[in-house]
This record gives sequence, C-alpha cells and structure tokens, in this order.
Amino acid sequence: MPGIRVLNVKKSYGDIHAADGIDLEIRDGEYMCILGPTGAGKTTFLRALCGLTPLDKGKIFFGDKEVTKEEPEDRGAVMLSQTYSLFPHLTVQDNILFGPDIRGMSDPDKEKTLSSMLDLVRLTSRSDAYPRELSGGMQQRTALARALASGCDVLLLDEPLRALDARLRISLRYELKDLAKSLGLTTVHVTHDQDEAMVMADRIAVIKEGRILQVGTPAEVFDSPVSPFVANFVGQSNFFKGTIESSEGHTVLRTESGSLLEAKATDIDIGCEAVLAVKVGNTEISKDGVGFLQGTVERILFEGRYLHVDLLVDGNGRISAKVPSWRMGKIAVGDRKQIRWNPEKARVFPIPEWGLERELKVE
Ligand code: ATP
Repeated sequence: MPGIRVLNVKKSYGDIHAADGIDLEIRDGEYMCILGPTGAGKTTFLRALCGLTPLDKGKIFFGDKEVTKEEPEDRGAVMLSQTYSLFPHLTVQDNILFGPDIRGMSDPDKEKTLSSMLDLVRLTSRSDAYPRELSGGMQQRTALARALASGCDVLLLDEPLRALDARLRISLRYELKDLAKSLGLTTVHVTHDQDEAMVMADRIAVIKEGRILQVGTPAEVFDSPVSPFVANFVGQSNFFKGTIESSEGHTVLRTESGSLLEAKATDIDIGCEAVLAVKVGNTEISKDGVGFLQGTVERILFEGRYLHVDLLVDGNGRISAKVPSWRMGKIAVGDRKQIRWNPEKARVFPIPEWGLERELKVE
C-alpha cells in the first residue's frame, strides 16, 4: 500500500486560502486524522488527495508515483464524502457489491466480503433494504461498507461517523480503525471531533485556515501543543497572560495581578509578554490551601467520575478545573479556593501577533 506525500499544496477560492501551502507525509498503512474546526480546509485537502479538486500549486505522490494530475479513478483512492451518495435503486447488498462486481471478484470472495462488511456495519438484517428505507445513520454505514469493499489502497474519510448516534459512533471508532489496519489501508480521516481523533489516529495533523499547525501522535499533540490554538482545540485549556519572571528549572510567569504561575521551562526571554496554557483536566483545586491563584467557585457540574468546576479567578476571569467526584460536598458554589497544577503540564507561548482572542477563535 502506498504512503502519501503532499508538497506545498495550495488552493484558494477568491480570498479564501482553503489550502495554504500544505506539506504532509502520511506513512504507508498509517491511520492519519486531519483535525480542525469548521472551514479549516479539511474537505478541500481530502478532495485534493482524491483528485476531485484541482490544485493551484503543489504536488501529491502516492508511493513513488506522482498523482497530482491523475483522474480520481486512477489513484487507487476512495473517498467517503459527508454527503454519501448511495445508488438509490440498489439494495444495501448491491451497493456494497458495486466495487467488487466491477473488479470481477469471484463469487465466493464476494460473499466473504459482503458478509464481513455487513457484519462490520451491523446491517446484516437489512441487506435487502433500499437506501430510502434506511435511517441516515444506516445509509452512512452502507456508504462506509461500500467504500471499504471497493478494493482501494487509500481510504479517504470525511467525517465518516458524524451522522451516527453516540453509542454506535464510539463502537464504530475502534472497528473502523481495526478494519482499515487489517486491510493494510493508508487512511486519511477528517474530523472536527478531538476525542475521535485522539482514540483513532496513529498521528493527528491539526489544521486551521488551510495550514497544518502540528503533526504528531495523539499524546504529542495533547501534551506538547505548539501553539495556544492547538492547546485549546485538542483538550480545552485555561489561559493566563503575563510576563516571564524567571526560567530556572520551571518558567515563572507573573500575571498582571501579581500571581506567580509555574510552567515547563521555555526559552522565551525574561521580561517578555507570554501566555501560559494549562489543560482544564490538569487544573486542580488545591486540597491543602496552597496554590498559584485564588478563585471563587461559580458552578459545579457532575460528569460522573469528575466534577467540572468553573471559577472566577481574581484578576484573570473565568477558568475551569476538574476534580474527582469523591470531593463532591467538599466544594460549594461561593467557596474561595486555591488553584494549582503540575508545572510540567503547563506550557508558555509567546503572545501571537494577532492576539490571543483571534488565535483561539474556531469559526
Ligand atoms: P467543515 O468542517 O465545515 O466541513 P472544512 O474544514 O472541511 O469545513 P472546507 O470545506 O475545506 O473546510 O472549506 C475551507 C474554506 O474554503 C471554507 O472557507 C469554504 O467556505 C471554502 N470553500 C471550500 N470549497 C469552496 C468552493 N467550492 N467555493 C468557494 N469556497 C469554497
């Protein structure tokens, strides 16, 4: 199966740079998630890989072969679009067998393919139904099975689980990845759902405004974000602006109200303005009354194993923290609490020249 190499791909629509110089290498057999907010250029990128959107500039290779100018059907890639288009006059079974039929697959192989696909997408009992007789989610699953049965080397998925109900979406995550892996496919899966990307991807490419901001394993992108946007989009973060006070061991940031906040060491110069980001999930309410900041509890939401606590922090505004739910009853709205985190879990970034607000904007 081929890996994919994308070199300086550009595509604009008037003033909109849907792909703004994308370089990306996707390994042979890799499951790559392209993660970004709405309008980031995810679909444009996928359509470019498939050959459905001609490029303004750049090159695309599948393995050693340049496919930039190849027709979609000559690329060995199949794309499952958000508006999956099933053949309305064919049953589920015949939709799935469309590709194997064209390829002249033998009857026993067709039968095997059909039964494994129906089983995967849980539609064995509906194999004789027509698309109009299926729910939206069932149509989506049929389209997925048809794409997988097409015998492609490269699978391009545009929000493939979007129309499914929550429970099915979660169980199909694992099965879809297992299947793509067992078939040895190189898969590019576009999503705006960070949980989906985290659990499914071998690597994630975070995209915004037509540019890839970071490529890495889910743990790398989650724990070592390269920018405030990535820190917030992949696991929500709290942000604190201030000035770098010192950088011996941990970096210390002094906020406008004089609090001293610690973070993983950075090479930003002392005296420079910077922003500290710490994941909500790593922000703790101190049990011993010692912390970096003080805040007033505004709201407590029960989330099962954790309580989500919103606090108004003196001189900073609203932030959120997670605490284990066994502490329920020990924290109440109106309480004054100390807030802390493990400094190794907090990152300091230069303030983006376009400002923090614009940096964090997702639409
Ligand atoms: P979503 O998650 O909402 O599907 P996306 O990340 O897939 O978004 P794209 O659909 O690739 O984003 O669009 C990127 C930008 O390019 C958007 O601003 C969109 O409006 C614009 N765009 C995409 N296709 C066209 C087109 N055919 N004509 C004009 N503008 C387009």
